[in-house]
Amino acid sequence: MDRLEKLCAEKGLRMTEQRRVIARILSIANDHPDAEELHRRANEVDKSISLATVYRTVKLFEEYGIIESHDFGDGRARYEEVPDEHHDHLIDVKSGKVIEFHNAEIERLQEEIARNLGYKLVDHRLELYAVPLKDGEE
Ligand SMILES: [Zn+2]
Repeated sequence: MDRLEKLCAEKGLRMTEQRRVIARILSIANDHPDAEELHRRANEVDKSISLATVYRTVKLFEEYGIIESHDFGDGRARYEEVPDEHHDHLIDVKSGKVIEFHNAEIERLQEEIARNLGYKLVDHRLELYAVPLKDGEE
């Protein structure tokens, strides 16, 4: 069983074979696929998995707190397994590539900002939209 499947079991989510296939694909993906891409990959394993099933399944996984969805500015929902350790994203707006990063200083600053406003930070999302540096650019 992979991690996502284990999480589903722990949360009491009944696993059908189709859900298992989609869970497995999400577990091994490291590129934040959208529903259509998930559908394409699922069909390589099982031709009977429809796009509607993929949409229903990711919605269900999200409700159970097993996966997270992101909108990286193009209006399409991207999915990833809820990570063990928090990370933020940099989106290359030219290629659409998504890079994960973690920065302790940013994490600390965000907590400090919330605290200064009289709040305890419980969650945040940070997305950086960027283009690759040209040669010689700093
Ligand atoms: Zn990510």
